[in-house]
Order: sequence, then structure tokens, then C-alpha cells
Amino acid sequence: AAEKAPVTASGGARRVLLFPLPFQGHLNPMLQLADVLHARGLRVTVFHAAFNAPDRVAGYHFVPVGAGVPTADLVPTGSNADFAGALLRINERLQGPFEDSLREVLQEEDHEGARPACLVLDSNLRSMQVVADRLGVPTLVLRTGGAACLVAYMAFPALCDKGLLPPQDHSQLNLPLDDLPPLRLQDMVFSTTTPHETMTTCLERIVESAKCSSGVILNTFNDLEGVELRKIIDGVGVPVYAIGPLYKISSGVKSSLLSSDQTCLDWLDKQEAKSVLFVSFGSLASMDQEELVETAWGLANSRMPFLWVIRPDAVHGSGNVGLPDGFEEETQGTGMVVSWAPQQDVLGHQAIGGFWTHNGWNSTLESICEGVPMICRPHFADQMINARYVEEVWKVGFELEGKLERGNIERGIRKLLCEEGGEMRRRADDLKDKATRCIKKGGSSQTMVDLLVNCIMSLPS
Ligand code: UDP
Repeated sequence: AAEKAPVTASGGARRVLLFPLPFQGHLNPMLQLADVLHARGLRVTVFHAAFNAPDRVAGYHFVPVGAGVPTADLVPTGSNADFAGALLRINERLQGPFEDSLREVLQEEDHEGARPACLVLDSNLRSMQVVADRLGVPTLVLRTGGAACLVAYMAFPALCDKGLLPPQDHSQLNLPLDDLPPLRLQDMVFSTTTPHETMTTCLERIVESAKCSSGVILNTFNDLEGVELRKIIDGVGVPVYAIGPLYKISSGVKSSLLSSDQTCLDWLDKQEAKSVLFVSFGSLASMDQEELVETAWGLANSRMPFLWVIRPDAVHGSGNVGLPDGFEEETQGTGMVVSWAPQQDVLGHQAIGGFWTHNGWNSTLESICEGVPMICRPHFADQMINARYVEEVWKVGFELEGKLERGNIERGIRKLLCEEGGEMRRRADDLKDKATRCIKKGGSSQTMVDLLVNCIMSLPS
């Protein structure tokens, strides 16, 4: 509920500027943060890349940045995508246009008579933070990943200094990292297509953005990642606000880059409780044609009901011919395929018994907060770290290891839905309760929102 609107000396509400990274998993948490701040009486301006623009929200001011900038190499694709390289290019290409846009916004006659309180930016946009610093705008940083991931990023340079990264040979990959349990060296190899130097620069900038900010906001909650949050507090030297799950603490505003197929919810209504496997690999991860075929037959052979999201760009490489012959007939009535789902509603549906996920942070958090156990198949970036925590720390799922092959998949599905899923679901339900409590009045995340709003209001006008 909105508290008394924070006002400036001249009586008008203060304004926050926000700049999300233009990817699905980053747009939603930032817009949800905007919603939380707006509900507390702040005015909102959203800067956004001209490509992958978010849906407009009534009452906010939207400022596109970088119209006309070439974007073909700014969206990472493929199973082992060079996400870090794309991030560096986005920073490079949008910095100049952002500076122009920010200057313009600052020069606009602000009818409240006060400068914007601050810029909240995605922690991957360090170059925009440099611009804000130059123009005297304080910054806060939103980390859309988990706390464990930021802790790992902070530890990256030390692992390089020790000569562990990049790994010298294959035999090292299983090495447990004593300071980062339960992570292994291989969980720190975010993509084999990204040069080590690019990775180093990219992670350095993320950590720098946190340290150079007036505060770090994380989409997680204390009962889930208390240990990791304390490490961050010790490491960054600025206030840390864990205010997740943002999709629950906000009104749940979403901005889907693809339109979602709502008919799957009607289909789920007809399924038995906790019987259906939801299969979705987020907005960027993809597979090759052979993996698609193996996945299809793994699902069909498991004889368990499933709802599978296959995005239009979900299959990469040549020879993409789609689902195998006979699959549709074989799974008629037991399975449904859609190109984009209302994922949070799906995971919250009583028919869902498990989630086969790539472990993007949003998907991982949504699964935990809906009490759904997981089969983990991480692809790149922080997904390996998240999968590791799901299996080893929260024990609400397990990793599907080895080649993506139909027998392997079938066994994994049966293990989750028929064998070990019960225990995992009980633990997931416990985390769901904790997530529900932390966003209530007096809960850890709600209290952190109060502190965050106080922090924003106390920034000089
Ligand atoms: N999502 C969705 N429908 C789908 C697949 C994904 O709404 O069919 C949403 C999902 O709920 C999550 C986001 O897209 O909020 C994906 O973010 P995540 O961090 O899990 O993965 P990424 O796309 O960044 O790899």
C-alpha cells in the first residue's frame, strides 16, 4: 500500500530515473521496482534502449535511447552465448546517446522544482553510471541476479590471481571452490565462447557499478540468501537492499517482449493437481535440432503431462525442421506446446508438479516462490551458479547432467515427478512460505523497501 508520498521542499513528489538492460530477464524486475517506488509516491522516468523497448506504463515518462544504433550483435544467441561481449557492446554504443538524453531530461523544467533524486540502473550498465556521475546524478544499482551470483563475481579476480581461471585443463573443472561452496570451478566458466579478458572486464564493471553506487538493490530475500547477502554487505561498502521477490512485492507489472499464450492456463485447469511438468528455458537460451528431437521424445516417453515453451528462436543452427514426426500424435491430450507462456501464472497453477528450467535467476526465483521443484539444465552466465544452489543449498531440484538424450531426460522427469519430487516440493513449499512472509509488513523485504525509499528521499535535491 502506498505510504504518504515523499515530497520535496517545494511540495512536489520526487522523481527517480531508471535504466534497465534491454532483455526480458532484466526489464521485468526493473519495471517492478519502478512500480514499488511509484506506489510509495515517487515519480518515474524510464530510460530504455530503443531496441527491445518495454511496454509503456501509464503515468511514467519513457525515454528511448540510441534509436538508429546497430543492434544485430547486441542480442546474444545460441546455447553458449557470448552474453558478456554483448554487454560490453551495449555499454559502448548506448553511452553517448544516453548522455544526450540524460542532459535533456535534466534540463527540462521539472515542475516539482527539484532535480531527479537518482538514477537506478541495471548493474550491467556501468558506462551509464559514469555518465550519471559526470552530470552529478547519484546512482543506485539493481542486480537482477541472485546474491550468490554477485558474491561469485566479486571473487572472480582472486580466482584469476590464483591461476585457477581461466581453467588450464579439463581435469580442473570439478575442483570445489573452498571460499564459495557449493560452487566448482566449472560454475565460474560463464561461456566458452567469451574470451577471458572480456569476461574479466564485464565482471569487474558489474562489481565496480555496485561499489560506485549509493546502494545495491537485489531481487532476492534474506531467508533465501542471508549468508551471501552478508558477504555482499561486507564487500561493496554501500547499503544493500534485498527487496525480492520483486514480482510479488510489486503489483506484478510485466513487459513481455513476446505475447504469451493464455490458453495454456485453460488447459492446465483440466489437469490433475501437481501432475504437469512445465518446460521453459527463458528468453535467450536455445538448443540445436538434435537436442530438440531428444527433448521431444524424452517428454513423450516419460508419459507425464507437460507444457513446453518453444520460442520462435529456440532452435539454432542449420537444419532446423521443428518437432519430430509423430510427436504431436503421440502426446495428444497429454502435452501442450506454446511459443511463450504466462510463466508466473503457470508456475502458480495447482496443476504444475515440476519445472524443467535453464535456471535464469527470474525463473529460479519464480519456481521457489511458487513452491515448484526443478530439473536444472543451465546454459550460460549465472545459470550454473543458480542450478548449483537449487541442488546443493536449497535442495529443491537437481541438475540433469550429461548429454541431452531421450533416456536421460525421461529418467530425470520421472525422478522429479514420481520419485524424489515430494521431498523437494516440501522444501520448496517452505521457501514459498518464507517468500510470502518477507513481503508482508514487517517482513525483511518490505522493511528494506522502507529503507530504500528513505535513502532515495534523503539524496540531495
Ligand atoms: N518468461 C515468460 N514466459 C515464458 C518464458 C519466460 O514470461 O514462456 C519469463 C519468466 O517468467 C522470467 C523471464 O521470462 O521472468 C526470464 O528470465 P530468466 O532470468 O529466468 O531468464 P533469461 O530469459 O534472462 O535467460
